[in-house]
Amino acid sequence: MTELIIKTRDALIQAGISPKKSLSQNFLINKDVLQRQVDYANVTQEDTVLEIGGGIGVLTELLVRKAQKVLCIEYDRKLAKFLENKFKSYENIEIIHADILKIDLPKANKIVANLPYHISSPITFKILDYDFDLAVLMYQHEFSIRMVAKPRTNDYSRLSANLQYQATVRILERVPKGYFYPIPKVDSALVEIKLLNKELPVAKEFFRKTSLVLFNTKNKLVSTIIYDYFKRELPKEDRLTFRRDLESKLTFAKTRVRELLIEDLVLVTRELVEFLETKPKLLLY
Ligand code: SAH
Repeated sequence: MTELIIKTRDALIQAGISPKKSLSQNFLINKDVLQRQVDYANVTQEDTVLEIGGGIGVLTELLVRKAQKVLCIEYDRKLAKFLENKFKSYENIEIIHADILKIDLPKANKIVANLPYHISSPITFKILDYDFDLAVLMYQHEFSIRMVAKPRTNDYSRLSANLQYQATVRILERVPKGYFYPIPKVDSALVEIKLLNKELPVAKEFFRKTSLVLFNTKNKLVSTIIYDYFKRELPKEDRLTFRRDLESKLTFAKTRVRELLIEDLVLVTRELVEFLETKPKLLLY
């Protein structure tokens, strides 16, 4: 047995918990991966680091030694208490006992975390509304594939489009499931996310709304999806004209959603915003 698995089991006993599936409590027990995760993030004395789901604090331990400040969020009351106690002699750490999805995130320039996987998607969308430079995050491997997926592949999704619209995303390494305790069903992966440091061509709220509608049925044509979305709000006699107008307005009307590049989605968004400005009763944005 490795040193870290013993340490993890002891810590869980001390904290008075057994790992909860409902909170995605799978603790990383490979020292080298932990070290590499911190190295990828290149944590220095200049950094304030946000950690989501501190667990028993194995990653936290490495972060607190390198960063200027660590803000560690943990939802499990007993683990939060355990972390408080473990790091009580450090002045550069704040343990925040909260649900990551229910709080305003405190300011930090880096995010380094082994995420609770059951809420990977809402966490990812939440950090896309947050201002940071670099994130090095552990996800389920399958999820990481969707994050980096390109158009025309089955994994291309609303998640891929929104992430790649606002950030560069890269899989750093695949992490075998045996490196966690308890062992989860699937492998994990470390992912790097860097927010793009430039003005976005359309507001991200508009892009997000467009992709929410389109990726619902990504094998259909753009114009069909949008027509179906508004159909019920239109009197029967207006529907045909609406459809024709829509088709003439949208450059990608006859393209399937799964084939749209990010810049194509930008154009769809822009044209759709303009089109709907002429139809004050139809609300999307
Ligand atoms: N960072 C640790 C633990 C990862 S397991 C490690 O590297 O081993 C995921 C952690 O997220 C658990 O400690 C779990 O209690 C916590 N967690 C689960 N749901 C959460 C939520 N909504 N907000 C904050 N933390 C949460």
